[in-house]
Amino acid sequence: MLYIVPTPIGNLQDITLRSLEVLRTVDAVLCEDTRRTQILLSHFGISKPTYRYNENDPHSLTRCLESLTGGKTCALVSDCGTPCISDPGWKLVREAVKAGVKVSSLPGPSAVACALAGAGITGGAFTFLGFLPRKPGKAAKIISRAYELQNPVVLYESPYRVLKMLELIEKTLGQDTPVILARELSKVYEEWQRGRVNELIALLSKKNKIQGEFVIIIDRPAEDLKEETDETDTDF
Ligand code: SAM
Repeated sequence: MLYIVPTPIGNLQDITLRSLEVLRTVDAVLCEDTRRTQILLSHFGISKPTYRYNENDPHSLTRCLESLTGGKTCALVSDCGTPCISDPGWKLVREAVKAGVKVSSLPGPSAVACALAGAGITGGAFTFLGFLPRKPGKAAKIISRAYELQNPVVLYESPYRVLKMLELIEKTLGQDTPVILARELSKVYEEWQRGRVNELIALLSKKNKIQGEFVIIIDRPAEDLKEETDETDTDF
């Protein structure tokens, strides 16, 4: 049995009771980084064998799979949030399913859901792109194609590259493109910035050092939203 167990994205209180119960009862925990997971486990007084799961190492995949097919119950965790969401795990899940291992995916923290809920811009469709390729040409093409779908586009970005990414969004979609930056979600310095992309570039350019984890949401232009409101039936 393989449990996919989401872990906090910043605030250690954000782990579910069920996730803790699973971590307490499994035979082993398969981790992205055993040291980070050990810190989490010891915080909750859980002592459990941990094994590194390296998505890019076929031996690691085989070892984990052998444990599962051999009847062991394992939890898969990543460094933060939900495994397999811009994180390692999906290959193991795919192979586990193929091998007939029962897989259970527990609900829990993920930066994409957390940021979108707080953005207040849609209750419906969105396009999640995670991390974009480093090559600006490739990244720009993906952004413009995704934006054509007329849904908000959600990206993950590191503090070292967030400014460059905003500049690429400006170049690709225009300076007036509305953007929401969700920084350090669930942490002490949680911060939200909303505005046109050129305004956010100006804001971040003023900082000596950009720190923290970011979710970038590219919203739809105001004209699109107006059209949508005009089309909506109003009963009131
Ligand atoms: N699996 C994770 C999830 O479910 O959200 C994502 C892991 S991915 C390697 C890390 C990226 O998630 C960061 O670079 C950032 O874009 C986003 N992220 C993670 N924690 C965050 C936080 N507390 N606030 C804002 N963004 C966060």
